[in-house]
Amino acid sequence: MKRLLFIGWLVLTLVGRGATPDVDHDTLYQFSTIPVLLAGLYDGEWTCGEVRQHGDLGLGTFDALDGEMVVLDGHCYRSGSHGKAMLVSDAEKTPFACVTFFEPDLLVSNMTVGSLSEFTAALDRQLPSPNVFFALRLDGEFGYMKTRSVPRQTKPYRPLTEIVKTQPTFEWRNVRGTLLGFRCPAFASELNVTGWHLHFITATRTGGGHVLDLRLTNQTAALDITPAFRVTLSTNVAFLKLKLGADSSDAVRKVEK
Ligand SMILES: [Zn+2]
Repeated sequence: MKRLLFIGWLVLTLVGRGATPDVDHDTLYQFSTIPVLLAGLYDGEWTCGEVRQHGDLGLGTFDALDGEMVVLDGHCYRSGSHGKAMLVSDAEKTPFACVTFFEPDLLVSNMTVGSLSEFTAALDRQLPSPNVFFALRLDGEFGYMKTRSVPRQTKPYRPLTEIVKTQPTFEWRNVRGTLLGFRCPAFASELNVTGWHLHFITATRTGGGHVLDLRLTNQTAALDITPAFRVTLSTNVAFLKLKLGADSSDAVRKVEK
C-alpha cells in the first residue's frame, strides 16, 4: 500500500514538473560565486546544457570571460564584446552563472524611470521583503539602454577590476527587448552581487549585455520570489587552493556598476 502511494506520488511529481523532475522551480541555482570570479578564475567548468537544466531564465559569463550570458525562454545567448548577441551551443562552458525557472509571483506596473538606480529603487519599494532572492523579467520598450560586455581574456588572466576599466559599452534608443536578472539580499555578499544584477537582450535577440543604465516609460516588470538558493562550487584545483574570505564588496561594486 505504502509502495503504491509512493509510486502515485512519484508519477504526479513527474507529470507536474514536466521534463525536469529533479529541479525545484522556486530555487535560484548558482554555479560558482562572484568572489571566485573576482579572484580571476575565468576557466569554464559547467556547460550551458547543464545550466539550462536548472532554469529557463538567468545570466552569467562564459569561458575566459568571453561575453555576457543571457538565458531566456530556455535558450542560452552570448552577448559578445562586439555588441552582437547570438545563440550558443550546449557544449559552451561557463565559470559563473545563475538561473531559475521563471514563474512570476508579482507585477510592478506603470514603471517610469530615468535611470537604472531609479529603476532598482522603484522595484525595491514594492518588494514584500529584502531578505529573499528575486528574479525579474521585463519585456517591453526601453527609451534608453546602455550595456557592457567583457571581451575574451587570455592567460595569465588580469583581475576583473582591471578588465572592466576598458570594457566596451553599447547604447540603444527606443529599443524593444527583455531585461532580466536577480536581486540578492545583503547577506549574500560573499556569494553573489547584492542588490540587482540585470542583463538585457533585444527583441530580435541580436544585441545586449550587462546593464549599466536605462530609461523606460510605463512598463511592467514581473518578479519571481525565489525562497531557495543552491550553489554548486568548483572542483578545480585552482579553486580548491584559492585563498578566499576577505570582504569583496568593494571589488564587486567596481565591476558591476
Ligand atoms: Zn552581469
